[in-house]
Amino acid sequence: TLTDRLSQLVKTMRGQARITESNVQDMLREVRMALLEADVALPVVRDFIARVKDKALGQEVVGSLNPGQVLVSVVHKELAATMGEGVADINLAAQPPAVILMAGLQGAGKTTTTGKLTKHLIEKRKKKVLTVSADVYRPAAIEQLKTVTGQAGGEWFASSPDQKPRDIALAALDYAKRHYFDVLLVDTAGRLAIDEALMAEIRELHATLNPVETLFVVDAMQGQDAINTARAFKEALPLTGVILTKLDGDSRGGAALSVRQVTGAPIKFAGVSEKIDGLEVFDAERHAGRVLGMGDIVALVEEVTKGVDMAAAQKLAEKLKSGDGFDLNDFLAQISQMKKMGGLSSLMDKLPTQIASKAGQGDMDRAERDMRRMEGILNAMSAKERAHPRLLLDDKSKASRKRRIASGAGVQIQDVNRVLNQYDQMQGMMKKMKGGGLFKMMKRMGG
Ligand code: GDP
Ligand code: MG
Repeated sequence: TLTDRLSQLVKTMRGQARITESNVQDMLREVRMALLEADVALPVVRDFIARVKDKALGQEVVGSLNPGQVLVSVVHKELAATMGEGVADINLAAQPPAVILMAGLQGAGKTTTTGKLTKHLIEKRKKKVLTVSADVYRPAAIEQLKTVTGQAGGEWFASSPDQKPRDIALAALDYAKRHYFDVLLVDTAGRLAIDEALMAEIRELHATLNPVETLFVVDAMQGQDAINTARAFKEALPLTGVILTKLDGDSRGGAALSVRQVTGAPIKFAGVSEKIDGLEVFDAERHAGRVLGMGDIVALVEEVTKGVDMAAAQKLAEKLKSGDGFDLNDFLAQISQMKKMGGLSSLMDKLPTQIASKAGQGDMDRAERDMRRMEGILNAMSAKERAHPRLLLDDKSKASRKRRIASGAGVQIQDVNRVLNQYDQMQGMMKKMKGGGLFKMMKRMGG
């Protein structure tokens, strides 16, 4: 993976004070390959690499960072910035009904997304929503829109294959006005390949409806070709936003970068399942990590260094070296540090997908509950017991002590035993790692 290859390169760059033409060459080659593997179109990759190089060259390498880490962070930031920043919800600032026109190739996910948006606008924006299909070439497509609109709780305006798209649009608009709808969503036909007739038709629809949003729906799996599709739609229509669908697939979603660059329009939402609720606000930061194949690794590194109390970690490392051992106070401190970093699942979220997928959310929730319970049990121990775990492990008073702790924490004796076992295991692990390995330890705890 890119992460492995980069960290290999990062190692060879240790000790160099700034980013130079020569030390950055190999790393940029890796980044370039990663982008191509993620299906970003070649011209877009070239452009991007040139920009990153410009930004990175001559950057001072401060503190404990090395040139490799600085470059990774420049790449990640630039990628996120290129794909758009902040949250861009649907613009409804128009005399009602606000019209939203859906555009894109056949199979891109227009009809499905129209249903998802209907649900979003009803539930999150509290709007009264009408949908209509101008896809007169496939009767099934009109029925499909009826179904998803019903699932979303919106109203569907009937149209038929004998009508002209323009007449359908006018009739729906009139109905929406007379019945005080806030929003009219207009689903359109797509073709397997771009053709002039289709483009003329959707241009006419645009002129008739004067939509406040013209959304380009594009399949994230489309790959290299996304750039041509985007260009064609951009030339035909004043696009106001992009919706990237099928991000739940295996693709690394490089299409986002190409489409964003060509259209200049913000990527507003991402489709993440076939279901009616499978729509998420597009998160450029996170998507940058996915495109690079390395999760939100930069944020993770920042968060880990920020959250961990460096002095405490240092003290612990020294303690272990001096042979004082790892007592239950240290165990408690480790758990609070993990909490400071936002808990296990927020950390797992930022890991590369390959790692994160091994730990399901269910396991994460359970691990976090366990962690909180462990903390409660440790807090129910006396300071003396925490400093001298032997009192709980093999002293003759251990049974009565455990009973007291269990009732103090509101748990069973077995739960107290489990914490002691975990402590025992971790102590062994800490010895092997000689402190420091907080990250490794978390991964093991997370399963
Ligand atoms: P249209 O021709 O542009 O209207 O595309 P459709 O809305 O009919 O979608 C084409 C296919 O893609 C359907 O099978 C949808 O269920 C599927 N689809 C659409 N969006 C998503 C998505 O975000 N994730 C997944 N997995 N499938 C999707
Ligand atoms: Mg359709």
